[in-house]
Amino acid sequence: MQKFETAQDAALTLRPDVPVYCFRPEVLRQDIRRFMDAFPGQTAYAVKTNGEPLVLNTLAKAGVTSFDVASPAEFASVRAAAPEAEMLYMHPIKAQSDIRLALETYGIRVLALDHEDEVAKILRIVRALDLDPSAITIFVRLQTKGHAAYELSKKFGAAPAHAVELLQRCHNIGFRVGLCFHVGSQIEEPETYERALASADWVRNRADVPLAGLDVGGGFPAEYGHDPRRKKKAMPSLDEIMARLRSDIAEWGFGDLPLVAEPGRVVVARAFSLIVRVLLRKGRRLYINDGIWASLSDSWTGKITLPARFIPDPARRTRHGNPETIGAFRVCGATCDSVDILSRPFWLPETVDTGDWIEIGHIGAYSMSLRTRFNGFYPDTFVEVATPFGEGGGAEGFASLETMAD
Ligand SMILES: *Cc1c(COP(=O)(O)O)cnc(C)c1O
Repeated sequence: MQKFETAQDAALTLRPDVPVYCFRPEVLRQDIRRFMDAFPGQTAYAVKTNGEPLVLNTLAKAGVTSFDVASPAEFASVRAAAPEAEMLYMHPIKAQSDIRLALETYGIRVLALDHEDEVAKILRIVRALDLDPSAITIFVRLQTKGHAAYELSKKFGAAPAHAVELLQRCHNIGFRVGLCFHVGSQIEEPETYERALASADWVRNRADVPLAGLDVGGGFPAEYGHDPRRKKKAMPSLDEIMARLRSDIAEWGFGDLPLVAEPGRVVVARAFSLIVRVLLRKGRRLYINDGIWASLSDSWTGKITLPARFIPDPARRTRHGNPETIGAFRVCGATCDSVDILSRPFWLPETVDTGDWIEIGHIGAYSMSLRTRFNGFYPDTFVEVATPFGEGGGAEGFASLETMAD
């Protein structure tokens, strides 16, 4: 992989017409260390956030020994990057054949569920393989409520009384049992985890079975940009959230249980930026070579404002407008699809024009993992960059990618 000091060096050297992912391994190492140092338990990186081999390899070398996985392809990626690592199969709803593959081929011994039919599926494979249930830990996924950019409890999780019953059922079979929840992604208030812990406490007291662990899931927010026209939302920092989580865990009496967290976004967001090119400026519109079907779908659906930096093309001789004035530009994606328009503008100097580049920062989470081949566009060019996005000179303008809905 080619290496550069900054993304601007990469853009001006390569003059790329395709989107370029700028990987910052040192930032990834820092962010995973920061998380592992602050969380008082086992850190299982959520592979779906960014399962690129270079990410998994870097995390494994940085000391990550467990991974949250959801599919056979994720089992294989983790095995290839970190053959000794433990995998936690935390998808609550699994295909029977995938459960068999997990237990038989990959030696996975930790699984999550939120329904009795899933218990039956797992038990069928355990019996067929003649495994001892006490070697297997089943985490019962609890419903949670809170405010996150993505609410996941609408889709998964057992209501508290149902969770009690599932814990007892699994315990009576002979499985080790634990409780898990996932509060959604990019949480907006530190109280979110406390509400989930209160609910876990209620379930634990009613179930009255020995618990083997508590898994607090992911959801820890990454740093993004903000729309200059709006008041900046006060986002809790990771340190604040962790301090609060640690004291809530102690207060609700979970401090003696083995703890697990499954961070994704907070670990990998800062480790990548993306260089895109302005293919055409048409009035106040910029047509770029990426979009919602490639690297920008997460920011679109999650109402996330990504920070952006302007990289003007020095080959352009004439420019119009005042370079000091920051204006809003509507951004159209690369595909022919008419929904492929970022519904909030990018904020850039008025001089931005056809042929210029824009570096979009903090793009490591849910970008390459969600890109599609729609219309034949598939960003897949990577370079390594040494300087963190936030240290590469002041961000000139902001890319505001919030959805129309808000
Ligand atoms: C997606 C997911 C995660 C990671 O979430 P982040 O918000 O990226 O930290 C963790 N656990 C489960 C069960 C998930 O589905």
